[in-house]
Amino acid sequence: MDGKSASTELYAWSLIRPCRMALFDEFKKAYAEILFGWQLLTKRSLILKHTMYTKVQPQDLEFVSECSSCNKPKPTPACGSC
Ligand SMILES: [Zn+2]
Repeated sequence: MDGKSASTELYAWSLIRPCRMALFDEFKKAYAEILFGWQLLTKRSLILKHTMYTKVQPQDLEFVSECSSCNKPKPTPACGSC
């Protein structure tokens, strides 16, 4: 291997590397977009969950805090008196 071919190889690498970097950048961009999409989905499901939870909670609290048969307050879903 003489100096000329070595420099040619180096030149070839200098051409490949930016190309690879660009590809890597594209990959990172795509990955970021996927992550962003997932984050949106997670946030959406969290919001949906939260909305469902806050919608259900007042009813739940009413049912849980008071027994429907003896009207006694109960800390657990199962009534201790009935
Ligand atoms: Zn009861």
